[in-house]
Amino acid sequence: MAVELADRLKKLPPYLFAQLDEAKARQLAKGVDVIDLGVGDPDLPTPNPIIERMKRAVENPEHHRYPSYEGMLSFREAVARWYQNRFGVELDPASEVITLIGSKEGIGHIPLAFVNPGDVVLVSDPGYPVYGGATILAGGEPYNVPLLADRGFLPDLSAIPGDVLARARLMFLNYPNNPTAAVASLDFFREAVDFAREHDIILCHDAAYSEMYYGEPPHSLLEVEGARDVAIEFHSLSKTFNMTGWRIGMAVGNAAIVQGLKKVKTNIDSGAFQAVQEAGIEALDGQHGVEEMRRVYRERRDVLVGGLKKAGFQVEAPQATFYVWFPVPQGFNSMAFATRALEEAGVVITPGVGFGGYGEGYVRAALTVSKERLEEAAQRLAGLMA
Ligand SMILES: *Cc1c(COP(=O)(O)O)cnc(C)c1O
Repeated sequence: MAVELADRLKKLPPYLFAQLDEAKARQLAKGVDVIDLGVGDPDLPTPNPIIERMKRAVENPEHHRYPSYEGMLSFREAVARWYQNRFGVELDPASEVITLIGSKEGIGHIPLAFVNPGDVVLVSDPGYPVYGGATILAGGEPYNVPLLADRGFLPDLSAIPGDVLARARLMFLNYPNNPTAAVASLDFFREAVDFAREHDIILCHDAAYSEMYYGEPPHSLLEVEGARDVAIEFHSLSKTFNMTGWRIGMAVGNAAIVQGLKKVKTNIDSGAFQAVQEAGIEALDGQHGVEEMRRVYRERRDVLVGGLKKAGFQVEAPQATFYVWFPVPQGFNSMAFATRALEEAGVVITPGVGFGGYGEGYVRAALTVSKERLEEAAQRLAGLMA
């Protein structure tokens, strides 16, 4: 039998990193000491108190059964406590909070709840590829909203054509932003909420990096008055507590939007392992290791940005996230420069074009290796400028 993929899979954009993955495998096979700044996955371990809580929870037979779809009330209460302390936002844990199996799970599923075939979803370009992919899987059409340097990588909402707005059901925003590391002001969030109300668009804000900051703490979209009428905000414990492998996150906001997401999940998954939710309560209440996490990435950021600047790269220190997003040198496109960095310097960086057409001309380096390795990476990249 010829196995034929469904049309929705054929519509997904091509995977642009295949060629780079192969080039990396070739370098490794040759014995090159590759420094990988490609993936946004923390290299540090999960803080100990979270692991200890997990060990105890895993022995409790109550947690061996199916969890509830929306998550344990105790986890959702911990989320509400954290929102109150961190953002001054009050949430009803019963109706305005849902546990996710990592935030990607919720982001990937939400278009299924609100997008009909032919509806438009506004996605940022460059952006996290899941927004567009999930839109296509739901039968919707992604519309790419450019994020440009001269606007601080915030979208120009007034530039989106009226006929697109008439068909738009959802808009994804993500601040602090992957890949550009941009942070949004409360003023921008106010503008976004007004825009969503005016055009009847559900705002989906991905706040996975809200705790990874080096200046003023970033805002929650829900701090804006009226946001609760139109918005849902996604959070993750992955980056904040070095828990990418644990698969735990949450979405909060408008109760009807949360209910829509829950209805999808009820038909697809059976909730997050309760022992992991217990560990999540420990993480949120204790904020274990968060200050240390910020200190480590700030030091690493200064090492890499300092080294790249000295070498003549045009690069600024990010105020949030663990990404450094910078323009490639003259005469290169992003794929050509990333390929050269790998083949001639043994450094993996991600070409901006992999995050969308407007990412062309940039590369992203993740601060997920030690200071010493970042210093070495900067020196090797400096060699390409000589
Ligand atoms: C890492 C990341 C996530 C999600 O992570 P989960 O591990 O699924 O919680 C979500 N959004 C962005 C932009 C990310 O970079």
